[in-house]
Amino acid sequence: MNWFSGGLGLWQNNYMDVVLTGTGSPLPDPNRAGPSTLIKVDDCHVLVDAGRGVVMRMAGAGSLPLFLSAVLITHLHSDHICDLNDVITTHWIMSQGNAVLSIYGPPGTEEFVNRQIHALEADISYRIEHHQELTDGPQVQVVELAPGEHFTIGEVFVRTEATEHAPVKPTLGYRIEHNELSVALVGDTVPCNGVDELARDVDAYVQTVIRSDLVGLSPNSMMLDILDYHSDVQQAAQTAERVNAKRLLLTHMVPAPNKEQYSEWVSEARKHFRGEIVIGDDLTTVSLQRTP
Ligand SMILES: [Zn+2]
Ligand SMILES: [Zn+2]
Repeated sequence: MNWFSGGLGLWQNNYMDVVLTGTGSPLPDPNRAGPSTLIKVDDCHVLVDAGRGVVMRMAGAGSLPLFLSAVLITHLHSDHICDLNDVITTHWIMSQGNAVLSIYGPPGTEEFVNRQIHALEADISYRIEHHQELTDGPQVQVVELAPGEHFTIGEVFVRTEATEHAPVKPTLGYRIEHNELSVALVGDTVPCNGVDELARDVDAYVQTVIRSDLVGLSPNSMMLDILDYHSDVQQAAQTAERVNAKRLLLTHMVPAPNKEQYSEWVSEARKHFRGEIVIGDDLTTVSLQRTP
């Protein structure tokens, strides 16, 4: 059964919405924003990664940077962080400088954020000069994490583990839990122990995927390079089955499928996973609900 969208109101505290705010990849696509996923539990909104177009898609998902309790970054590949500057600036302006944006990520995240803010120095000075309400630049708190750490953000509990996306190091995946509901968001990675730990028995396992059978046909050697550091659809499905995930959500699909090809992708995953398989356009929403 699909639990697509909606579950607010009556299910307060018993639901967790997983919104695929960006299902694209580094390859530009007019219909797919860059990788990001939004988790919503009541007023607690947590954004995982901040790819191309993320703020537009957040608006489409009924959220805004101002509403974020935190941003979690899986790794510092540009497709996952290239619009973090928009999240920071929009949060700063819409809060009139009064709110702190919390950003969690692997070592290197703080330097990246500081450099983003430096890159925006001219804009920041113009706005401070123009708006009486703004007395300082963006208020950002960055927490760099090590594998195995856990913490709470508002209503949700978060665990992190190392993933494998070499030569990109370090990389982190996350498990977010609330009221016996859980989702694993592991970013770009090949199957590994960290992914298994995070996705064990989850309600939703979100995996960035490629089709190795199609990518492998490419004459472009740079495309072939991506084969060795992503999960392909079959590997993601094998992981989902191995760890007893209830649902597998495919995102960051390479090559991006059109609607007519979704069933083919699901069939590839179905060979290895008996649970629910979700593939879709940007803003595909899975509303996890705890049985009362
Ligand atoms: Zn990556
Ligand atoms: Zn990526």
